[in-house]
Amino acid sequence: MRERLYHVLESQQFDRELLDHLCALTTRFREVGKTTEGALAMKRRHVGKRAALYFTQVSTRTLNSFRAACQVLGMDWLEISDPNTSSEVKGESPIDSVATFASYADAIIMRSKLPGLAKQAAEYFDRERPFRPWHTAHVVNGGSGQDQHPTQALLDIYTLYRAFRERGGIEGKTIAMVGDLKRGRTVRSLAYLMRHYPDVRLIFVSPPAFQMEEDIKAFLQKHNIPFEETEDLDAAVNVADAVYMTRVQDDLDKEKGATPIFFQERHLKILGPHAIVMHPLPRREELDPACDHDPRIKIWRQERNGMWMRAAVLDYLLKENDPLEGMREVA
Ligand code: ASP
Repeated sequence: MRERLYHVLESQQFDRELLDHLCALTTRFREVGKTTEGALAMKRRHVGKRAALYFTQVSTRTLNSFRAACQVLGMDWLEISDPNTSSEVKGESPIDSVATFASYADAIIMRSKLPGLAKQAAEYFDRERPFRPWHTAHVVNGGSGQDQHPTQALLDIYTLYRAFRERGGIEGKTIAMVGDLKRGRTVRSLAYLMRHYPDVRLIFVSPPAFQMEEDIKAFLQKHNIPFEETEDLDAAVNVADAVYMTRVQDDLDKEKGATPIFFQERHLKILGPHAIVMHPLPRREELDPACDHDPRIKIWRQERNGMWMRAAVLDYLLKENDPLEGMREVA
């Protein structure tokens, strides 16, 4: 049995056992949440616990799905979204700002433009805990610069797991990742998790300027995960079980110089009958909204899965004993 994770910082921390556990817990929460009795049982799970949301980089889905996840679990939350309204304008360091949050919270969910901030905060807390044993907050990375977005990768895995549960699971599937692979953190975090699903094959579809970074390719090579790089979306859509679209990340870094690759209505005709299309959102023109009516377009389901998966992640971090306590009898 693996050691329990204390913080959620990057995809490399997860193994298959934990991924399966979180997927099962997510399904359980979804089912139980359908009845009033079940919803109330979930709301009793973390009464008196608090999450701190430190989101100094813009967010719609991650922030709101974590708020919603706290509501599902009966937790309260505190929030800083603009460092200009915090003591950081008085010269307080981001780590001191986060440590202040830790004085009031059981978990800190962090999104920052600074690539390693969540990790740095977690290391700081671990180092200091012997001196302040009551300072016990778990750190969750809600998106760190262009580097990682591990809880997005978990909800993406859950979306794939649900889509393929009656077709042999994620193993053996071909997944096309499309768009700005160089600067998109979601595809990086998801690519790391692929090592836990035997015989997965990846197709990276991007303009040459936005190709996947070397560190991820080296990781895939090391773990014998086959991948190819192409600009040909049609060819990829023809063979893929899942097409993962992404936008051009020019808000993070102004370098442009390449047009996006577009998934349009005509691609629905060449997409396999059991294949799915995902997108971490927000989308721009790279995924035509005219496609949304097709049941293979899973983007809104994926978004909703985010709330349940994030509830499962918080529950895993904060409930160390019986994972189903108080929920066995409710359906
Ligand atoms: N919402 C995702 C992220 O925060 C994807 C994106 O912004 O393109 O990375």
